[in-house]
Amino acid sequence: MKLTDLFQQKKSTFSFELFPPRSYKATIEFGINVGQLLKMNPDYISVTYGAGGSTQKETFDLIDYLQNSVGLNTMAHYTCLNATREKVEQDMNQLKDIGIENLMLLRGDPPKGQKNFVPTSEDFKNASDLVAHVNRKHKHFGIGVAGYPEKHPEAEHLAQDLYHLKYKMDQGADFIVTQMFFDNAHYYRFAERCKEIGITQRIIPGIIPITNFKQIKRFSELAGSQIPEQVLELFKPHENNPKKLYEVGVYYALKQCIDLLENGAPGIHFYTLNKSRATIDVFESIPSMLKR
Ligand SMILES: Cc1cc2nc3c(=O)[nH]c(=O)nc-3n(C[C@H](O)[C@H](O)[C@H](O)COP(=O)(O)OP(=O)(O)OC[C@H]3O[C@@H](n4cnc5c(N)ncnc54)[C@H](O)[C@@H]3O)c2cc1C
Repeated sequence: MKLTDLFQQKKSTFSFELFPPRSYKATIEFGINVGQLLKMNPDYISVTYGAGGSTQKETFDLIDYLQNSVGLNTMAHYTCLNATREKVEQDMNQLKDIGIENLMLLRGDPPKGQKNFVPTSEDFKNASDLVAHVNRKHKHFGIGVAGYPEKHPEAEHLAQDLYHLKYKMDQGADFIVTQMFFDNAHYYRFAERCKEIGITQRIIPGIIPITNFKQIKRFSELAGSQIPEQVLELFKPHENNPKKLYEVGVYYALKQCIDLLENGAPGIHFYTLNKSRATIDVFESIPSMLKR
């Protein structure tokens, strides 16, 4: 189902992000975790593209499996990595043929070992180029894009990033999913600034429960998402106590979700890291009146 149609019916959506597993063991764990996540009846599942070194084929195979064999509503991520007009055309037709109706269009992270993103073609230098192309030639797809409450790491300041985001929306994007953040004030300020410059589409907050402190710290540094001092203080005493750390992580993410939903956020997109337990513990604890 096209998410823009779903948005007409539902005030808030709840979705889980997955990435293609990279080894035999990871594949087995993935199957178990997805099985658990499915019980939560998500509005959609999204599958990353090229992130963490995965290949395009793995993304397409997984999205095909989740959409057609498992029967889920899905969103395929797609980036400017190696994008040329011919390749994009071929890929869009393939995704359409396997029944995909929703895309998250991105510029993409630089491949491993590369500092900057180097476009393959002048036609696809930024996510907005993909949005414009898909919107013009493949109206069949609903289009999501990324937004950065604390600005994209390469942008000089938030105003500059928002200027580019507005341009991206104007090319035909239907909604925004945010980068993870650990202080809801960033989301509220971002949503307000978007409104001020005429961005009226849904801005779905992206939330990651902190259950592995070192890993999340590394991710947040890469993504340009700050972990506030008072949150660090919450976690630091439990750095070497996985059980306690897990409890604090779930408690903190739940607190973030409830606050966001009470203040009108249109649902939550969970970065699951292919694990199920923390996301399920958070999701199940959100009061049902906030899940409508
Ligand atoms: C929800 C979400 C999902 C993601 N999924 C993936 C994934 O599956 N695979 C993956 O590789 N990465 C993924 N990423 C990471 C993303 O690819 C990186 O953050 C990347 O660095 C930027 O992608 P973007 O689409 O935001 O780029 P863009 O919107 O192109 O922006 C990138 C930078 O360029 C600037 N900019 C934008 N337009 C212009 C312009 N016209 N002229 C000059 N500057 C401009 C922006 O201000 C920003 O600083 C995801 C991120 C999020 C938040």
